[in-house]
Formats: sequence, C-alpha cells, structure tokens
Amino acid sequence: MTLIDGKKTAAEIRAELREETMRFEARYGKKVGLAVVLVGEDPASQVYVRNKIRGCEEAGIRSFAHFLPADASQKAVEELVCSLAADDAVHGILVQLPLPAHLDAKRILACIPADKDVDGFSAENLGRLALQEEGTVACTPLGVMELLRRSGIGICGKRAVVIGRSNIVGRPMALLLLNADATVTVCHSKTPDLAQICAQADILVAAIGRPRFVTADMVKEGAVVIDVGINRVDGKLVGDVDFEHVAPKTSFITPVPGGVGPMTIAMLLKNTLVCAERAMR
Ligand code: NAD
Repeated sequence: MTLIDGKKTAAEIRAELREETMRFEARYGKKVGLAVVLVGEDPASQVYVRNKIRGCEEAGIRSFAHFLPADASQKAVEELVCSLAADDAVHGILVQLPLPAHLDAKRILACIPADKDVDGFSAENLGRLALQEEGTVACTPLGVMELLRRSGIGICGKRAVVIGRSNIVGRPMALLLLNADATVTVCHSKTPDLAQICAQADILVAAIGRPRFVTADMVKEGAVVIDVGINRVDGKLVGDVDFEHVAPKTSFITPVPGGVGPMTIAMLLKNTLVCAERAMR
C-alpha cells in the first residue's frame, strides 16, 4: 500500500506556481490576482479563507480579501462581486460558501464571469467540462486528478466508482474520470447495492460527507482509494473511508487529513494562474 501524500504534493505545486507567477509578472508587468470574498464570521470559512490567502502568498499571487458583515445586503455583495469582475488586477474571484441564509447564493455567483470563475462552479464551466472543452474545473476533483497523475496511476480503461454527485465534487469528478477514459459509475444516496458496485472499482472516490462510510468489504484488493470526505468526529478530522481497515487492501490511498484537502487550495491557485494567462491572450 502506498500513501498518497497530498500535503507534500500541494507544497510542490505551490513552489512550481511561484516560478510560473514570477514568469507571468516578468512578461506582463503585473501580478496574478485573486479576490476572496467572505460574508459573515463562520469559523470554518474563516479558516478556509485564511489558508487560501496564505496559499496565494506562497504561490506569488496577490490576494484581495474582502470581508463583509454577516448582515450584508444582497445588493452590497452583488455590487462588490461586479466591481471585482470589472477589475483588471483581479484574475479570479472566489466567494466563500456557504453564504448567510438571507442571501441568494446563486444570484451572487452568477455575477462572477466564467473567465474569473476560479472555482469552476458556473454553468458555463461545468458545461465546458461535460463537452470536453477548455474551461475551469472545480478545484477538489481537479486536485484528485493531479494526485492520480503524479502518483503514476493510469486511468484509461479502469473501472472508476464515484460516491457522491454534488455539483462541486462528485459530478465534475465523474466527468473528469470519464474524460480520462475510465468506465465510470456514480453512486449516491438512492443507489441500491452500493457496496457491491464499489467492490468492483479499480479507482474508488468517496465524496459523501459520512465518517468512515467506506468499509473494507466495499473495496477490491489492490484498488486505488481516494477519500474526499472531511468530517469532524469528537474534535478529530476523519474521512469518508474507514482508513484503518481499508488501507491494507489498497494499492494507493489518500489519508484524511493530508490527502485531497491540501490539493484543493493548490488547484485554486493553479486555476487563478490559468485564468490570468487566458486573460492575456
Ligand atoms: P454534498 O452533501 O453536497 O454531497 C454528498 C453526496 O453524497 C450527495 O450526492 C449524496 O447523494 C451522497 N450521499 C449522501 N449520503 C449517502 C449515502 N448514505 N449513500 C450514498 N451516497 C450518499 O457534499 P459535497 O460538497 O460533495 O462534499 C462531500 C464531502 O467532501 C464532505 O465531507 C465535504 O466536507 C468534503 N469536501 C472536501 C473538500 C476537500 O477539499 N477535501 C472539498 C469539498 C468537499
């Protein structure tokens, strides 16, 4: 069994990005810029935003942080996002989710133009992925693909099973694997015989949000297991995979924490650079 070290890989990517952003700066006389918008004081969101800003610093990306109070109006948030959309120094815009309940997140996200949508959440970018056209892909599934690639794991012709069908993880994950020529099955909360389907997977991706959901009997001997889940149990972070019992059966597995998580931010930074380069074409 090989442990896939997402923390180390993400650090390598940030170092690579630093060189690339320096080249960008030398060529165009400006920095790559990412705007981050946080509304309210949700503690988890504050941590995520802080980590994203720190990631920017490490990768040589200029960050524009905008903190709005929890009672900010729909109009105020939309106006801010629209002003960032029009700002040439900003190549990517990220609105940290979840937004407070009184805000219409869909309308706010719609203010982000597809070419600055570094999260890849827009209909245009998800559509582009489905059509195998150039666009921006959601950071977490993109991070999974990068981990597979850098671990030398082939995808073409493999049987891949994705558990979870959310727009930000499961769905784009399945499309990426399909685009890489895997035979893909998507399982979700209404899937009968889920355990048997998972047990056929050469590559199993768990993106459910249920602690230790994937047990050893659901995993084929020698499978690659990617755990996207982040769950807090008794103050400890655990994944969607029962790591202790599953790991010995696998050829490769990601830990939680230190697996997919750090890759998400690395891919956000990478997406920002790619958006900046496209803006200069
Ligand atoms: P979500 O709640 O939007 O979607 C969960 C999916 O799991 C749904 O499609 C649902 O059908 C499926 N599901 C739920 N219960 C199930 C069951 N009993 N059997 C089969 N399928 C079931 O969640 P999400 O945003 O896709 O996130 C999934 C997990 O990944 C969460 O733990 C989240 O914290 C984590 N996550 C991690 C990162 C990261 O950077 N590592 C990023 C995003 C999400």
